[in-house]
Amino acid sequence: MVSGFDGLANELEQIRLKGLYRSRRVVSSPQGVNVEIDRKQLVNFSSNDYLGLANDPEVVKSFKKACDNYGVGSGSAHLICGHSRSHHALEEELAEFTGRERALSFSTGYMANMGVISALLGRGDQVLEDRLNHASLLDGGLLSGARFKRYIHNDLDNLNNKIQPIDGRTLMVTDGVFSMDGDLALLPELSALAAEKNAWLMVDDAHGLGVLGDTGGGVLQHYGLRQQDVPVLVGTLGKAFGTFGAFVAGSDLLIETLIQKARAYIFTTALPAAVAEATRTSLKLVIADNWRRDKLNQLVKRFRAGAGQLGLSMMPSDSAIQPLLIGDSLQAVKISEKLLDKGFLISAIRPPTVAKGEARLRITFSASHQERHVDQLLDALDSIAI
Ligand SMILES: *Cc1c(COP(=O)(O)O)cnc(C)c1O
Repeated sequence: MVSGFDGLANELEQIRLKGLYRSRRVVSSPQGVNVEIDRKQLVNFSSNDYLGLANDPEVVKSFKKACDNYGVGSGSAHLICGHSRSHHALEEELAEFTGRERALSFSTGYMANMGVISALLGRGDQVLEDRLNHASLLDGGLLSGARFKRYIHNDLDNLNNKIQPIDGRTLMVTDGVFSMDGDLALLPELSALAAEKNAWLMVDDAHGLGVLGDTGGGVLQHYGLRQQDVPVLVGTLGKAFGTFGAFVAGSDLLIETLIQKARAYIFTTALPAAVAEATRTSLKLVIADNWRRDKLNQLVKRFRAGAGQLGLSMMPSDSAIQPLLIGDSLQAVKISEKLLDKGFLISAIRPPTVAKGEARLRITFSASHQERHVDQLLDALDSIAI
């Protein structure tokens, strides 16, 4: 008898040999600039908590208070009896925040992307995606059953060539801020092309919302684009908002369609109401606390200037995501471990998250970092042969 699991050990060994093995570190402190892992205090440059809200006292207080009022579990999916006043209020506030008719909350960004694309498209339609899009956007495109094409990163000519004249729908999908590169999508050009081709444009702004734009409205606020220009906007709440969950914002028609058709919305338990309440507080802070965005930008500038002086091969990014290209996966892991020894948590990002030969250290900044953290990191990078 051949056991179905016989091949697995070999497969794992192959992953290990290529330097692609992934393992988890157990964190025993709250998220923040200082985290404790294996009884070691580390300065964290790996988190997506860009504004330092994950452990903000006001956000935590809202969460606790909401637990007293609503308990923990939401009890069911939104369409059964899990859609609370907290979810509803959060949706209305997110719609206003993004300048859209409505917003719909999802349990995670991964599910929002799977749900939206497969609700909007099916056989006979086509979806075009930037090659560097987040895995959930690619998976959503594949799940939809539409004709699926990837275009070269931010290459409008390549995209244009791949759009086929068809009877069905055409959806163009892109990250707003690319999660492993930190650069921005060319949204004004993409939206013009979408109009010309009678296509819909969908933007996942997981890394732009809260961080870019005068009031944290993200990449669309940064470019001054409206609902007409980008009809489908996805945001996640586990990054700059510091909590958990996601949302889709757009027209009333879009949101009603999703409520009827998005399986990742319909067939899953709603977020705990307390998470929605905590997010309402973090949304207020995102809008009001300009100092968080200002500080983040200053820290990034300081880092880039210092990295330039050290001759490090930083990628062209002005965002909170500052990747340092290494190339070889094993080498990236080695450098990440050396940094760990020196007290810095910076993860090595390897294939298949990024392309082969493009392993990198993904250094991310938070408004909670101090200038001295940046300087200490630069010293550590200087002392390691990269
Ligand atoms: C993190 C991320 C997601 C997934 O969001 P979760 O809420 O963590 O599931 C989706 N898209 C992009 C671009 C992301 O970076």
